[in-house]
Amino acid sequence: METTTYSLAPWSLSDLFPGSASPEMQAAFDELERRTAAFENHRLELKPDIEARAFLLILDEIEQITRLSNCVDGFAGLDFSADTQNQAAQAFLARASQFLTGLQNRALFFEIWWKELDAANAQRLMDVSGDYRYFLEKTRQFTPHTLSEPEEKIINIKNVTGANALNVLYDSITNRYSFKINADGEGQELTRGELMVYARHHDPDLRAAAYQELYRVYGNDGPILGQIYQTLVRDWRAEQVELRKFNSPISARNLVNDIPDTVVDTLLDVAERNAGLFQRYFRLKARWLGVERLRRYDIYAPVAQSDKRYEFEVAADMVLDSFNQFHPQVSQLARRVFTEHHLDSEVRKGKRGGAFCATLTPDLTPWVLLNYQGRPEDVATLAHELGHAIHSMLAEHHNAFTQQASLPLAETASTFGEMMLVDRLLATESDAGVRRDLLFRQIDDAYATIQRQVFFALFERQAHELVQQGAAVDDLSAAYMENLQRQFGDALDLSDEFRWEWVSIPHIYHVPFYVYAYSFGQLLVLSLYKQFKNEGEFFKPRYLKILAAGGSQAPARVLSEAGIDIFNPAFWQGGFDVVSESIARLEALPVGQ
Ligand SMILES: [Zn+2]
Repeated sequence: METTTYSLAPWSLSDLFPGSASPEMQAAFDELERRTAAFENHRLELKPDIEARAFLLILDEIEQITRLSNCVDGFAGLDFSADTQNQAAQAFLARASQFLTGLQNRALFFEIWWKELDAANAQRLMDVSGDYRYFLEKTRQFTPHTLSEPEEKIINIKNVTGANALNVLYDSITNRYSFKINADGEGQELTRGELMVYARHHDPDLRAAAYQELYRVYGNDGPILGQIYQTLVRDWRAEQVELRKFNSPISARNLVNDIPDTVVDTLLDVAERNAGLFQRYFRLKARWLGVERLRRYDIYAPVAQSDKRYEFEVAADMVLDSFNQFHPQVSQLARRVFTEHHLDSEVRKGKRGGAFCATLTPDLTPWVLLNYQGRPEDVATLAHELGHAIHSMLAEHHNAFTQQASLPLAETASTFGEMMLVDRLLATESDAGVRRDLLFRQIDDAYATIQRQVFFALFERQAHELVQQGAAVDDLSAAYMENLQRQFGDALDLSDEFRWEWVSIPHIYHVPFYVYAYSFGQLLVLSLYKQFKNEGEFFKPRYLKILAAGGSQAPARVLSEAGIDIFNPAFWQGGFDVVSESIARLEALPVGQ
């Protein structure tokens, strides 16, 4: 066991390039240009009876081009994140992205040919394609929903001034909003992000004021924003259902995620049946806050205030130790991110906010960005992002197309990593206030990630039908209020301005039906965690196998090979049972201790 301690530090990008203006970078541009030109020469070989060997060589070539492109693109993005005010980094990001888009367009003919190839020959080639198989399969899943080339071109051209333009318009309108609130003895003008900090404030009046102001502003434009939504929903149906022949509006998204329609329906049904669970939590929270009943304004109210801070060295030790307790291989992989200096942990002026993990190619340890400030949630974020990195590293034997897990599985290792850390904290933290705070925050997060998103998805499913039947914006607001009533029952007081909440959710505009993926990922992890608790050591190899599959198989198959049946409602119920147990732990505590 290593005993190195790790301190706050910036990352090094030298495993990629010495700099954006270096000769090595210029050499990469030259090589990409040369390889792409060579690749274009294969166009003539792409015939239905192409020999398997020749086909595999072509695949290897695109994969090599993809790896090098990812290094250039990755360097540009990471260097910019490290200092968003650096003009050279800004300029290089734009230059790299333009160059790489040009290359992609030149190589696009391969994908088009592959999608159009007859089924028998496609099968023949997939059978010998090894680790490329799922990538090839996935591309062809869209074949039945792909139109002719001229039709696809027209859709692309008209989208620029159609659906895409409406989304840009929605962003332009809503990004200009400023919100006014009286706080700390003075009137303030805030962005939405700044305003919503008050949703978690200890002062109940400020929490109410924040929501009232949010929906006052959105509500003022409600009819226009609602009209934009109706048009996008009509466009979605016209394209996905009428032209591309998907069974339903949500099916188009399900295929992108490669999740069968019935699995998504089961997930949404089970979640809806568990509405009572979070209602129970809100009643519990009301008791802790000393009120008869919570208002919708209060659901993220802090119950306990702990100002506990953790030095980075301590946090890194805790996270690595919790990983090590699960499996030494997991902590060894996480250490690679530290020892190779792929972690930018410190807060710096100009550095991008938030946190992320970037996996570029299978042969490079991922890079992780944090803005570590020592709060308990910062420790959780460290565990979360290192979880992503571990997921990628366990799957590094795959190729550039199949290493990274697809969306429904993408949050598995990260969320699991957080849960390992929280378990360790709950077991070792001596301060009862900190422990209680951790539990409340965990359930707050579960609510926001699972149930809130499920009810958005249920609303979307209904809204896409209502619009088809000619519903007006007010009808959609009424449907939204009914959706909230089903979600909260009589556990919350719901005030009328929430009728405009739906026009304030960018996801339902930009990426219809995206939101259920959050619930899917979180419930999956909770359910896995429950199995871990029940099975102990037996569970570990199955879990590591799921991660090691990366994106090399369909999610349902990865999971079924680990003995998990996502078609079975009981599996999803298992996730809710974990939340229920956490709520029970809090219910067992005497209120106010
Ligand atoms: Zn994540």
